[in-house]
Amino acid sequence: MTQATTHPPSGSTATTATYDTLIGRVVEANLLGSTASILSWDQETMMPPGGVDHRSRQLGLLARLNHQMETDPMIGEELGLCEADTAFMNSGSIEASNVREIRRTYDRATKLPQRLVSELAEVSGKSQHEWAAARKESDFARFRPWLERLVKLNREKAACLGVPTGGEPWDALADLYEPGCTAAGVTEVFTPLRERLRKLIAELLAGSRKPSNRFNETELAVDVQSAFVRTIVESIGFDFQRGRLDTSTHPFCGGSHCDDVRMTTRYTPTCLNDALGSSMHEAGHGIYEQGLTRSAIGTPAGEAVSLGIHESQSRLWENQVGRSRQFWNWCAPKMAGFFGKSVEGFTPEDLYAAANVVEPGFIRVDADEATYNMHVMIRFELERLLISGALDPKDLPGEWNRRYLEYLGVKVPDDRRGCLQDVHWSMGAFGYFPTYTLGTLYSAQFFEAAKRAIPGLEAGFARGEFRPLREWLNKEIHAHGRRYSPSELCVRVTGAPLSSACYLNYLEGKLRPLYGA
Ligand code: ZN
Repeated sequence: MTQATTHPPSGSTATTATYDTLIGRVVEANLLGSTASILSWDQETMMPPGGVDHRSRQLGLLARLNHQMETDPMIGEELGLCEADTAFMNSGSIEASNVREIRRTYDRATKLPQRLVSELAEVSGKSQHEWAAARKESDFARFRPWLERLVKLNREKAACLGVPTGGEPWDALADLYEPGCTAAGVTEVFTPLRERLRKLIAELLAGSRKPSNRFNETELAVDVQSAFVRTIVESIGFDFQRGRLDTSTHPFCGGSHCDDVRMTTRYTPTCLNDALGSSMHEAGHGIYEQGLTRSAIGTPAGEAVSLGIHESQSRLWENQVGRSRQFWNWCAPKMAGFFGKSVEGFTPEDLYAAANVVEPGFIRVDADEATYNMHVMIRFELERLLISGALDPKDLPGEWNRRYLEYLGVKVPDDRRGCLQDVHWSMGAFGYFPTYTLGTLYSAQFFEAAKRAIPGLEAGFARGEFRPLREWLNKEIHAHGRRYSPSELCVRVTGAPLSSACYLNYLEGKLRPLYGA
């Protein structure tokens, strides 16, 4: 099973038998949990609107049953036995890390009352539906009672989970997505980054050149766009025998396990880069999921380590690969085959520049690399205030709009393009947003390490050679599951703790020449 265990063959001692029983329970709970994931995917992609009430009840029931299985007192007993027998486990073994991570999940689950778990699942199911309608009509008042309810439930959840010493309630929620993440730690990274980015954005916008946006205003048939992005994500390594690509309002990547990965994208007739960027992004998530260890399905060793690391994989394929000059040298001739005359006259250099236009805007998912993290920082500040109680949900639109003006210099025209644009809070996900920026920083640091490890890595992109990168990520990151914490993994892969240095060097090195700044 692992290289470093000291125990006799499986099943020959009480402890290994206990470990096997424990793993069996965890795998079964995961089977149920992954069933809920498929129902959620269906809700976003296929389900008729009429199905929402019944689906919310289904998901509420599954969440309750899953919670029952995860908090089975037998798990507690078996964990205690496994932990007591230190001779059975080498500290670096798969067994040891599985036991450690099962303990983490178990302790967390047993702190949450069952009533709260099913109420959260049910409310967020209905709330997402109400959010979608409110967003469509740009009607914050319609969403407000749901937001109030979700904030209240999440404050209760944070209280149950327990606020770390010296920390705040937001930390307890963020830890669910990014182990060890705290508001103070995030602020420490974000504050200097915000100042550097603000300066860079201003310098770029005042630069002596401006990349043409003409390609991003070129109408291309959606069905051809769909065939094209499918080819691209397959070329970078997403396996369609073990995954799907569908359409949804808000692109995401879900599914049930490494051999059934469900990702979605969305199409804008006048902007191929919209669908291409979000598809490569989700494919990065999908390639991570497909790269998890099949024999460890349902156990911590077969699960992604954190959302920040997950996001590093999507950002890496979307940005370091998909917004590179070498990628466009490979992609441009392919485009002619799909779009014919519509793309005539665009050189690879034009397309590379079009993929790197910097323009402060209202919408996070449409944002360029330079402004993207500002959107995340605004959300982090606001959800931190909502959860601490310092911001009343009714004041959210005003505070949102004020920050957009201050950080990005844009005047938000309505709540649809303001505080109603993201699905996260309507799903009850508070503490999630910073993982986007942490992932962005990880992606740049991982990519630097990949370049050191693989000679000629970027030059290979121009020949469509993406496999060396995918295999390196698979070996260095995906295959480990939850064996190492995000910060341990970062040091192991890159030789250093996370910092914004690689990201800022990468960003400035690319954008300054394009803008003559
Ligand atoms: Zn993502």
